[in-house]
Amino acid sequence: MLNLNHLDYYRLPWNLTDNSISWLEPTAKCNLSCDGCYRKNENNSHKSIEEIRKELEIFTRLRRCDGVSIAGGDPLTHPDIVEIVKIIKEKNLKPIINTNGLALDKVLLTELKKAGVFGFTFHIDSKQNRPGWKDKNEIELNELRFHYAKMLSEVKNISCAFNSTVYEDTMQFIPGVLKWAQENINIVQVMVFILYRAVNNKKVDFFLGPKKIDMSQLVYNEDPLERTDIKAEEIVEIIRTEYPDFENCAYLNGSEQPDSFKWLLTGRLGRKNKIYGYMGSKGIEIIQTFNHLLKNRYLAYASPKDTSKGKLMLLLSLFDKQLKKTFKNYYKNPLNLFRKLYYQSVMIIQPIDFLEDGRQNMCDGCPDITVWNGKLVWSCRMEEQLNFGMNLKTYPKNFLDQMN
Ligand code: SF4
Repeated sequence: MLNLNHLDYYRLPWNLTDNSISWLEPTAKCNLSCDGCYRKNENNSHKSIEEIRKELEIFTRLRRCDGVSIAGGDPLTHPDIVEIVKIIKEKNLKPIINTNGLALDKVLLTELKKAGVFGFTFHIDSKQNRPGWKDKNEIELNELRFHYAKMLSEVKNISCAFNSTVYEDTMQFIPGVLKWAQENINIVQVMVFILYRAVNNKKVDFFLGPKKIDMSQLVYNEDPLERTDIKAEEIVEIIRTEYPDFENCAYLNGSEQPDSFKWLLTGRLGRKNKIYGYMGSKGIEIIQTFNHLLKNRYLAYASPKDTSKGKLMLLLSLFDKQLKKTFKNYYKNPLNLFRKLYYQSVMIIQPIDFLEDGRQNMCDGCPDITVWNGKLVWSCRMEEQLNFGMNLKTYPKNFLDQMN
């Protein structure tokens, strides 16, 4: 596996109380059933506007953030989604809708734009059992991704992101998906790859206090045939088969394993026909720090207007070696002075890792923190909160039997 040194990159300053994002779940209802989903699809689970206001109040009282990811289930199934966006906007936070897009049409998009939606993250991958796209692979799904990117670009200045869950048999398609994202760099601002995770009963046992828990009662998949331990470095290695210079700039480490990449960020600068280079660790540090200085919060999502100002970012090449290379590469052709240069983020997310000694390596500074019972909790472990009121502990297989 590729050996990346986390100390070469900027450790994102995001933490529990001062982060870039918070995760709001107005509903657990969904209109799709993805293989890798970690939330139970519940029909009558729409939260009232009052409940949502309370959760936002808890977020803003305990945590500073730039954007609120409105997730679920699928938030577009919630009848008050327009009102929810309005409420978040009124709190001077960026409403970002995390959706599979099925329920999105031009009428609803126009209403959401009026309500102040800042961006969409469309969850599209080949393991969603999506009507009309069931047997399509990740490359064939670019046509669907283009449909949504074009839809957003027509209403102007709404951030467009795509996320896909990455499985052992789909990781090979990532270079092709990133090639598509390059060819649409003017209308696609963010690409996110989330590495598939599931319960691994072969490795660990789950406990609620002294009580061993049968995980089959939870929605998490159990002992799938495919891998559940893909690492971010493997994805970088695959991407470099298409983009040999692909370089990361920032990360979030693991809560137990400091040199693990739980969130691994790359910023690339280019145009449809070419990627000219990458953002470096100093450049992204300056952007996050100045955003915090000027706006009192770390940056989550930038608007399409801002991501189309790549040339402005090249000014940071005074402090950033990576950007200096990009600058030289871009201005090899002086005519580029008169052309637009776009910035696009690529994020790799590596959820929970179960370590040999049973420890759970979570994302240190988790951006997807949500509210449950007045507490801030990991949204990826919400099923444990709902079923047991707390996160379960794990021990190496048969560990406690050996202790007795
Ligand atoms: S800890 Fe879980 S919810 Fe938080 S960022 Fe990581 S995978 Fe997402």
